[in-house]
Amino acid sequence: MRALRLESVGNLFVREVEKPAPGPEDLLVRVEACGICGTDRHLLLGEFPSKPPVTIGHEFAGIVEAVGSDVTGFRIGDRITGDPNISCGRCPQCMAGRVNLCRALEAIGIHRDGGMADYVRVPQKQAFLLPSDLDPLHGAFCEPLACCLHGIDLAEIKAGASVVILGGGVIGLLTVQLARLAGATRVVLSTRQESKRRLAEALGATDTVDPSATDAVEAIAGPSGLLPGGADVVIECAGAPETMRQAPPLAKAGGTVVILGVMPQGARIEIEPFDILFRELRLLGSFVNPFTHRRAADLIASGAIKVADLISRTVTLDAAAAAVRNPARSGEVRVLVIPD
Ligand code: NAP
Ligand code: ZN
Repeated sequence: MRALRLESVGNLFVREVEKPAPGPEDLLVRVEACGICGTDRHLLLGEFPSKPPVTIGHEFAGIVEAVGSDVTGFRIGDRITGDPNISCGRCPQCMAGRVNLCRALEAIGIHRDGGMADYVRVPQKQAFLLPSDLDPLHGAFCEPLACCLHGIDLAEIKAGASVVILGGGVIGLLTVQLARLAGATRVVLSTRQESKRRLAEALGATDTVDPSATDAVEAIAGPSGLLPGGADVVIECAGAPETMRQAPPLAKAGGTVVILGVMPQGARIEIEPFDILFRELRLLGSFVNPFTHRRAADLIASGAIKVADLISRTVTLDAAAAAVRNPARSGEVRVLVIPD
């Protein structure tokens, strides 16, 4: 079979490799689609630690082709989505239910072979059923959606709440939809590209702001802004120091700021502790997808979360290395690899 192999930092090639043999608790899955995520580029550039040589791809879904001897609940022909993040189940964090903070956390597509390949081996505890009539490309959105869901859970959005989302990539556009589903009646997205603002409005954002044309904090939280005094919840989905700086002043007193975006490691911003204290802001990090993958799969299976318009382009395995290497083109939200 073919696989997109990260052979060392900077070296990504399609290689002919042995088809994985499922262990007793594994599924062998024929990949239907695998998303290309910013993390894949970070792995290639050595900005995120991985274990090369390894097949990359952690946002995959596909069809079960073979099952190990001890597998229950899955059959050949089932469509599944894989949760790539494998926790040990035994360390103090796992025992406390914080599996995403497991000190031995390993990810499919980062530390072990992933989904940018004809086939991927998935432990049964990491697999979640999808309907047989789902669009085969849509399953690739379960993993990013599961990460957004964790952020939404932490934000504790109440019915009628106001939410500001910074950054209109796939994470921001999924989070816009989740915020509406969670009951927010005002959802403001700030992102620079016009096409992403239009898409957000079609997907449920009540207002959008162009932070390159206006002062986003003033336009949203200023006295004559969209939400004078700020929002109940602000979710940073751009991963940029600039948007991180905007987040606390965009929250109203008593509000919550959730950081979903990954800033460059070591990046620093200035915050005003007095403001956090005096206005009792909650400032929370949200890392990956603890126990949210099943709900993410259900949200996509039911059509409650719309992903069709988030697919900008599909590429073959042969064109995937170039798609990983080059930053997304203007207007692009998600590029999917279709191995077939
Ligand atoms: P993405 O496609 O790069 O989207 C980020 C968007 O932010 C860009 O499309 C850009 O759109 C916007 N942006 C950048 N700078 C901005 C600024 N100064 N002001 C306003 N908007 C700005 O990335 P993604 O896939 O959506 O992921 C978003 C972030 O979440 C990344 O950092 C990613 O690593 C992270 N992530 C975190 C988790 C987690 O578990 N917490 C999981 C997955 C991904 P415009 O050009 O329109 O401004
Ligand atoms: Zn990802």
